[in-house]
Amino acid sequence: MNIIITRQGYRCFRLIFLSIILSVPCYLHSAPGHLIREIPAVWLSDIAIAAYDSHGPVIYYNPLLTEQVGPWITEFIRAHEFFHHHLGHLQREKYQSTPLNRSWLRREFETEADCEAAKVVSPYAVVAAVEYFVATQGPTRPDPFHPTGYERAATIRDCAGDR
Ligand SMILES: [Zn+2]
Repeated sequence: MNIIITRQGYRCFRLIFLSIILSVPCYLHSAPGHLIREIPAVWLSDIAIAAYDSHGPVIYYNPLLTEQVGPWITEFIRAHEFFHHHLGHLQREKYQSTPLNRSWLRREFETEADCEAAKVVSPYAVVAAVEYFVATQGPTRPDPFHPTGYERAATIRDCAGDR
């Protein structure tokens, strides 16, 4: 039997594979006392966000966008969202009425999560994240609650140190 894998089929396979890779280690990272589940969400307009659902802390990620940005930026963003939970930036009670509540966002929280992520991710992820924020945001910020792209790149570089 001949199996023809079209370009679209290959992309679909890579997407599913990436989803599995991102989902498998979901129980490795935990906030104090809680497992953090990682849930694919194609409806999400961001690459990933930290949130709570009725079962506890979660990270929603858009597998289409992680596919677009590639593994190194995905590695950095994943660590960044994990640290939002680990550093206690989110208040669980705010999620009961608004599942995707983002009122907890603060520039200093974003900087903290970037810094801690930069300390633990691979050097490839550090370089990719710096290039990504310089290229996509530069002197601008996506909203009032995030630092500018240049500020985020500087934080990531400083916190990563000489690795
Ligand atoms: Zn963040």
